[in-house]
Amino acid sequence: MKRIAKSKLIEFLKSKGELWVKTREGFQQSDAEAFAGRASKSVKNMVLPREETLLVFFKPDGKNVDYDEIYDDRKRILFGLSPCDAKSIELLDLTFIKTSPTDSYYKQRRENSVLVVLACNSPSKTCFCKSFGYGPFTELGDVFLVDIGDVYLVKILSDKGKALLEGLELEDAADAELAKLEELKSTAESKVQDIGIPKDIADRLYANFESDFWEKIAFRCVNCGACTFYCPTCYCFDIQDVERTNWGWRERTWDSCMFAIYSLETSGHNPRPTGMHRMRNRIMHKFSYYEKIHGQHLCVGCGRCVDVCPTGFDIREVVKQAAKLEVTR
Ligand code: SF4
Ligand code: SF4
Repeated sequence: MKRIAKSKLIEFLKSKGELWVKTREGFQQSDAEAFAGRASKSVKNMVLPREETLLVFFKPDGKNVDYDEIYDDRKRILFGLSPCDAKSIELLDLTFIKTSPTDSYYKQRRENSVLVVLACNSPSKTCFCKSFGYGPFTELGDVFLVDIGDVYLVKILSDKGKALLEGLELEDAADAELAKLEELKSTAESKVQDIGIPKDIADRLYANFESDFWEKIAFRCVNCGACTFYCPTCYCFDIQDVERTNWGWRERTWDSCMFAIYSLETSGHNPRPTGMHRMRNRIMHKFSYYEKIHGQHLCVGCGRCVDVCPTGFDIREVVKQAAKLEVTR
C-alpha cells in the first residue's frame, strides 16, 4: 500500500481531468475532500443520467428523416465512490456492456470514467453489503483509497488507474498507517449487517410466484418509486421522441417499474396491473431473474431504499422472510 497527503492527491487529480467528488449528498464537480461514507444519492447518475438526449433528428422536407447521435465524450474522474457504488457499476455493466447488444451511450460514459474508490469509514445504519460477499473496505474500482486522516492510503488496481496516477510520487505506507487501516476496517465491518441470504433464494422466489407472500409484503408500499430512483442498480428507463415542426430530439429518462404506466401496453393491457404485481417484479428481478441471467443479485446492500421509503418498506426484512419460503410448493 502507498500513501499520499490528501491535498496533494486532490491537486494532482484536478490537473488530470473533470473531477467529480462524492459529498454526503452525491457527486458534484468540486475539488473538495471526498466523504468517506455512503452518499444519499448513488453514482448511477454519472453513468446513466437521470435524463439525456440520445439524438437530434431533422425532417427538412417533412418526410425524410436525418439524425445526429449525441454522445457524452467528457473524460471524468469519479473520486470517492464507496465500494457499494463501485459494485453497482459492475452490475450495471452486465446489462449495458456485457450483454449484446451493448448500450453505446452507457459504454462511452463508462469508458471515459475512472473510478477512484474510497473505503467506507462510517457505514450507515441500514448498510448490509456484507450479505453480498464484499464489504466497506473491499478493494474495487481503478484506484482504491483509504482515508486515515490527513493522508490517503493508495492502491492502484487497473491500467486505467495506473494511467491516471502516472507522474504522481507515492511513498510507501508506514507500519503505523497500515495498522490504522486495519483498525478502521474492523470498526467499519462491525457496523455492517449480513442478513444471511440463502444460496437458493432465486429458487425459493420462483417456487412461490403465486404465493400470498407477495400480497402481504406489497401491502405497505404506495408505489411512489422513490426506492427505485435512489437505488444504484435499478435501471428502468423510458425513451421519448419530442417533435417540433421539422425537427426534434430523442430523450431517455429514468423510469420506475413501481409505476402502473411503466408496464402499460398500447392495447390498454397491463401485465402488472396492481401494486402486488409490481412489487413482485422488483424483488424477483433483484433476487431471482438477474441471478438466473447474470449469476449475481441486482442489489448491493446499500440500504438507500430503506432510508427513503415513506412507508418503511424494508427490503432486508423481505429477503429474510423470503429465506423462510418453501422451495417446493
Ligand atoms: S435494492 Fe435497496 S439496498 Fe439493494 S442496491 Fe437498491 S437501494 Fe441498495
Ligand atoms: S419507496 Fe417504499 S412506498 Fe415507494 S415504491 Fe418503494 S417500497 Fe413502495
